[in-house]
Amino acid sequence: MKFLLQCTAITLFISCMPTKKKVVIAHRSASGYLPEHTLEATAMAHSWDVDFIEPDIVMTKDNELVILHDHHLDTTTNVAEIYPERMREDGRYYAIDFKLQELKKLSVNERIDLRTKKPIFPGRFELTKSSFQIPTLREFIELVQGLNKTTGRNVGIYPEIKKPEFHLKHGKDITKHTIETLREYGYEDSGQIYIQSFWPSTLIRLKKEFKTKIPLVQLIASDDWGESSADYSEMLTDNGLKKIATYAKGIGPWSHQLFSINNKNLEPNNLVEKAHSYGLVVHPYTHRLDSLPDGVTNKQFLDFMFEELEVDGIFSDFADRVLDYLD
Ligand code: CA
Repeated sequence: MKFLLQCTAITLFISCMPTKKKVVIAHRSASGYLPEHTLEATAMAHSWDVDFIEPDIVMTKDNELVILHDHHLDTTTNVAEIYPERMREDGRYYAIDFKLQELKKLSVNERIDLRTKKPIFPGRFELTKSSFQIPTLREFIELVQGLNKTTGRNVGIYPEIKKPEFHLKHGKDITKHTIETLREYGYEDSGQIYIQSFWPSTLIRLKKEFKTKIPLVQLIASDDWGESSADYSEMLTDNGLKKIATYAKGIGPWSHQLFSINNKNLEPNNLVEKAHSYGLVVHPYTHRLDSLPDGVTNKQFLDFMFEELEVDGIFSDFADRVLDYLD
């Protein structure tokens, strides 16, 4: 865990008081350096001794939980090459249409733009180099727990339950499967976990139906992304935050919901302050060295987040650099 030291010169002496610890979350593992969510990227993130590593979870046809950011397969794997006949009418390939053993035959690559077939982040891992697989949630957890044992570290996990509405529509209760698996691995009382979701009903079910004590984080999208049927603009209001505080420990807003950009200057709004007033922690997504706001340096961005806005933690594709900054 990292602490920020706040030092103030008071007349004749300097006092240094530790402020609240900041939470560093390796977003999709070490995704700035290796294809996202792979076990290789997870081992790398673990080596930095981050607070948490994030697995995004989707379900397969045979009810296995796998680590993928999208419920589609075509932006991060070679599915179109291996199973061309499995494309749906909308031109996409869905993880839910495949059994685990079929998914294991795919090779994971750096994320591409489907239209151009070019990498979204050109400076990242070479598209055609090496070989990576889609991990299951169990493989992910066993790697993190195994490394915790051998290194003596205490790295936690920050799973996101992806597209619960979509899964339910296809007869898959991803929320139930996820909480059962997490409990099986001892996460219910571990203090080494947050669970996040964009869909409020999932978090409310976890609290009320499954009676979990795991801290829950309500992710907040922009309404125009079509992420779920939830009203995200409402979540940014006082009423919305008050409602979230009845079932969640915190919010995970899109970082751009915390500021406006005026002439290359970041100007804060009061969302973090408002969330804090309802007792919610704020963990925005996503810090990316290769996608900082125009004209803003890494240090300026992190200064703004941690010192001006006083966020409680951050999701980062380059979590090592956030740890360096906090040190
Ligand atoms: Ca995520």
